[in-house]
Amino acid sequence: VESETTVIPVVDGPTPAGLHAESVSAWFGRHHVLDRVSLDMPAGRVTALIGPSGCGKSTFLRTLNRMHELVDGAQFAGAVRLDGDDIYDPRRKLMDVRRSIGMVFQKPNPFPAMSIRDNVLAGLRLTGTRASRSTKDELVESCLRRGGLWNEVKDRLDAPGGGLSGGQQQRLCIARSLAIRPRVLLMDEPCSALDPTSTRVIEETMIELAREVTIVIVTHNMQQAARVSDQCAFFLAAQGTPGVIVEHGDTASMFASPQDQRTHDYVNGRF
Ligand code: ADP
Ligand code: MG
Repeated sequence: VESETTVIPVVDGPTPAGLHAESVSAWFGRHHVLDRVSLDMPAGRVTALIGPSGCGKSTFLRTLNRMHELVDGAQFAGAVRLDGDDIYDPRRKLMDVRRSIGMVFQKPNPFPAMSIRDNVLAGLRLTGTRASRSTKDELVESCLRRGGLWNEVKDRLDAPGGGLSGGQQQRLCIARSLAIRPRVLLMDEPCSALDPTSTRVIEETMIELAREVTIVIVTHNMQQAARVSDQCAFFLAAQGTPGVIVEHGDTASMFASPQDQRTHDYVNGRF
């Protein structure tokens, strides 16, 4: 039985977990958005989801931690295994799923009036995790370090999160998601709203983080996919049909010698 005052060990980072999507289909009402998408996202690797707008990348990403269920009329079929166990198993608690599989969005969304420190700790409250004061201090520092923000904010942890630049806010959101010790981090175009310098800092952060957190990132930036990801999945939804994965594989070989003409055209900026 877990006690109410579980002390979070911050010295050892969490271990990354593998995710495996098996024949995932999704609908919003009668709109069929994904059709039997299967993808292996190995532990400790960065997987990039690429493809044109509207082909279901964000929806697929959300099915990986059941976030799509927040939309009225959302339907799902298939399985998503986290280290082998289906996150859709009815016996599985949704809170445990969300605790294990964190999410960072396109638009940085820190709590603007809340201090930097409390932003990092905010996830603990949501998931009902308690920690001692000193554990919290260690946790704040460790998460901000791993999010690549510590040096810039260590002297103003009580300043509001909303006062940071866009790139810093996004790193704060990464630090916040790390505080609940996720084993997988889902990132939906995390750099699209940021300037090139912040983007590079976040890319460095992702590459570092992948050792402890499996990363799945949606990106429209092919250079970014090439820089950060180990493997890539190319999504496409032909007119009036649900999204599917056309091709997936090792990033370097997919960019150098795509097997499908449509992948070739997409990675070369033809559509
Ligand atoms: P992508 O991220 O690749 O641009 P999305 O997953 O956002 O694609 O969207 C896939 C399809 O699902 C689109 O046709 C979009 O209009 C539809 N869709 C996305 N979100 C919703 C929603 N909340 N309600 C209804 N339809 C949606
Ligand atoms: Mg999207």
